[in-house]
Amino acid sequence: MDFPTEPDIIDTDIAVIGTGGAGLMCVLHAHAADPGLSIALVSKGAVGRSGCTRMVQGGYNAVLDPSDSIEAHFRDTLDGGKYLNDQELAWTLVNDAPRVIHELETRVGCFFDRGPDGRIHQKAFAGQSYDRTVHRGDLTGIEIMGRLRDQMFRVGPRELEDVRALDLVRDENGELAGLTALDWRTGRAMLIRARVVVVATGGAATMWKIAAPAREKTGDGVAMCYRAGLPLRDMEMLQFHPTGLLAGSSRLTGAVLEEGLRGAGARLLNADGERYMSRYDAGRMERSTRDVVARASYTEIMSGRGTESGGVRIDISHLGAEEVERRFPGMVARTRQVGQDLATGPVEVSPTAHFHMGGVMIDRDCRTELAGLLVAGEDAGGTHGANRLGGNGVAESTVYGARSGDQVVHEAAGRPLREPDPAEVAESIRGAYAPLLRDSGPLPFALTTELKELMWERCGVVRDREGLLAARTGLERLAERVALVRAPHPPAANYTWQEALDLGNQVTVARLVVESALAREESRGAHYRADFPERRDDSWLRYIVARSGTDGAELSTRPVEPTRLAPAPEVTTP
Ligand SMILES: Cc1cc2nc3c(=O)[nH]c(=O)nc-3n(C[C@H](O)[C@H](O)[C@H](O)COP(=O)(O)OP(=O)(O)OC[C@H]3O[C@@H](n4cnc5c(N)ncnc54)[C@H](O)[C@@H]3O)c2cc1C
Repeated sequence: MDFPTEPDIIDTDIAVIGTGGAGLMCVLHAHAADPGLSIALVSKGAVGRSGCTRMVQGGYNAVLDPSDSIEAHFRDTLDGGKYLNDQELAWTLVNDAPRVIHELETRVGCFFDRGPDGRIHQKAFAGQSYDRTVHRGDLTGIEIMGRLRDQMFRVGPRELEDVRALDLVRDENGELAGLTALDWRTGRAMLIRARVVVVATGGAATMWKIAAPAREKTGDGVAMCYRAGLPLRDMEMLQFHPTGLLAGSSRLTGAVLEEGLRGAGARLLNADGERYMSRYDAGRMERSTRDVVARASYTEIMSGRGTESGGVRIDISHLGAEEVERRFPGMVARTRQVGQDLATGPVEVSPTAHFHMGGVMIDRDCRTELAGLLVAGEDAGGTHGANRLGGNGVAESTVYGARSGDQVVHEAAGRPLREPDPAEVAESIRGAYAPLLRDSGPLPFALTTELKELMWERCGVVRDREGLLAARTGLERLAERVALVRAPHPPAANYTWQEALDLGNQVTVARLVVESALAREESRGAHYRADFPERRDDSWLRYIVARSGTDGAELSTRPVEPTRLAPAPEVTTP
């Protein structure tokens, strides 16, 4: 097969990469601000039906009740994030969230559950001082994404579905000029010339053995920005959700049983039937934050108090089967699919890789260091600090998606379409086609399994220097083999080839996670070092910045700026 030198060319004012909550809110706002702008929506999966926003079960945090307050939501977010947060980003999140909920109801057409008094019902979520989680049963993401998807028919962006973005490209003066992409149905390369690019590919938490996110999220956006020289922050901060379903080799292993369960009184039990959270956070028990609960479960499992299949159990059957079915229909159905039943008895669960707090550095208008490039949603870092509160993720994607849409109009003003440097375009496309052009080399699937096991065992819920050094060496060796990976022909709808491209980005992101985890010699939020078990505010109220250097990643640290709230000490209960 020949290397395709002539990509299909598309010109657009705005290219939005990703069609989760952030991508679609961006389109909605950009169109509202200037209906004359042409928008291309680049989506690796189905538009509006790929990514994790659609998977949101629990709900959306927003201050709606007069007896709640923005300040309380902000404090909860910082307490949860262990004060590593970019306070301006967190403040913007909590301030905009009520407005965006209102917009989702009145403009986008979402229906959220309401109480008998007619007001939006808000439920309890872990780590929060007030019941402020807006929801639609336990299928909130489907409601939001279904309605946002409908809005796209009205707005009419150019939808490039099943098209994966490859690389950002610049012109010969170093100015952003667009991106390269691949239509993976046809196997054809594309060059999308754009005045403004918005990256919203939803981050990456899929390179751990047990993982919750949608499979198309393989760190593409973060890796793309890293290759383009942009600074990333908090890459070591990977949240493990405490309750991922354990279902053997089923694809449902890792799927989240959401936080609302613990909020509603679910109990976590070890194999001896003991409610073990009393040993880890006697005050909050199962309603403690995710990092504490995930570590507690992991410790029980590793201490030999786990179930035979390496998990613990969650039980909410004391509420009665009818009540559990009414309140958590999605989760009941999911457990029944794998031969268990949440409504009538305990279900086996394990910590599961869930959300990446780290990502590209942005300001409150989603701007990055590169003019014309905006980043929104889970691809961005800083809002959640060392740990994300349940309910703040979909808030982030829609709040910052909306803000990026407002901002693109300003970015586009005065930015002409630029001619991408042909050498950069050719290099990106050549790199993508390389696995197809090789006659020999490993296939990607076994390497993906190896990556996931390595990250689970050496850079998982509990880390230490020895394990992280082993992860570093393992990843170095893996990267050498990934560079030689091969995919058989043909290029059209070729899953082996797509797996090879996913793997390349996953290894890039995994290496940044491991390097940052090695550098942070303390425990904070989701990052727990068994060899440095204490949070050390004296030396580590700093965030780690990683960027691409001449010889791999270059790491530096910067002090957290407490622009609004002084860091409070760790809350511990006996
Ligand atoms: C199981 C689960 C349950 C959750 N529940 C909650 C909850 O109850 N409350 C909460 O606040 N948060 C929750 N979250 C987190 C929340 O889903 C995320 O924070 C949020 O949805 C991220 O939105 P996003 O728009 O950034 O990305 P996503 O919605 O994940 O969208 C990513 C998009 O990028 C596309 N894409 C990826 N790579 C490429 C590429 N190379 N080229 C083109 N397109 C690409 C994908 O196809 C997809 O369209 C949950 C997450 C999971 C996994």
